[in-house]
Amino acid sequence: MRIAILTIFPEMFESVLGSSILGRARREKLVEIEPVDIRPFSDRKHKNTDDYPFGGGAGMVMLAQPIVDAIRDVQGDRKVRRIYLSPRGETLTQKKAEQLAKEDELILLCGHYEGVDQRALDLCIDEELSIGDYILTGGELGAMVLVDCVARLVPGVLGCEESAQTESFSSGLLEYPQYTRPREFEGLTVPEPLLGGNHAHIVDWQISESLYITLRRRPEMARAYLKGRKFTRHQQKVVDAVFDRIREEDE
Ligand code: SAM
Repeated sequence: MRIAILTIFPEMFESVLGSSILGRARREKLVEIEPVDIRPFSDRKHKNTDDYPFGGGAGMVMLAQPIVDAIRDVQGDRKVRRIYLSPRGETLTQKKAEQLAKEDELILLCGHYEGVDQRALDLCIDEELSIGDYILTGGELGAMVLVDCVARLVPGVLGCEESAQTESFSSGLLEYPQYTRPREFEGLTVPEPLLGGNHAHIVDWQISESLYITLRRRPEMARAYLKGRKFTRHQQKVVDAVFDRIREEDE
């Protein structure tokens, strides 16, 4: 997979793209992620990339010309999904990330200041994506979030495909608590089922903890998970025990 990130601050990506799992995935050529500086594409004498907004108002607007030329240069004559990071876009979800991970190539556009001249979006953008209902100073952090959650779904990037599938949001429930050594830390112990080595008990514990946490923190998500789902007798007992636990706690 190849992801080009169009930005006026390419240096912001250096540490994120060079470290940890993303850094290794890039070095092993599992994903190609390249920040592209929009500035050299400007046809203005001083390579400006923004100007005052028509109609007045505070702040500057990013020029259409350098953005359109940069996107066309990166895209060539290939069909590439082009995304503008924007607070008015559809909110990024795990499901969306799974769809994007199936693309061969993505172009991400990071806005700055008051945003981007609408004509650049009309000419060269396929969709707008938001990373949440708040305003960032620029699209770079949004692009990093998107790249991180999409790239880790590309086969081979995580090393263990199962871990992406069992994580929160992929299974439809939030993840159960995780523990590592030592068995006891400052008086707190690892839950018994995780220590016994009985796989069936471990799975029951993980599912019931996941369901409990989801019911407590994201009840709408738990309802969607439970709706229409068929359980075996044993699984139903596990689910019922979680509801009993919640009822008891709330009494
Ligand atoms: N004037 C715009 C508005 O009110 O919608 C906000 C512009 S914001 C200060 C500058 C840039 O940050 C945007 O062009 C966009 O690329 C990025 N941005 C801000 N919030 C974002 C969000 N929640 N998700 C994705 N990108 C965002």
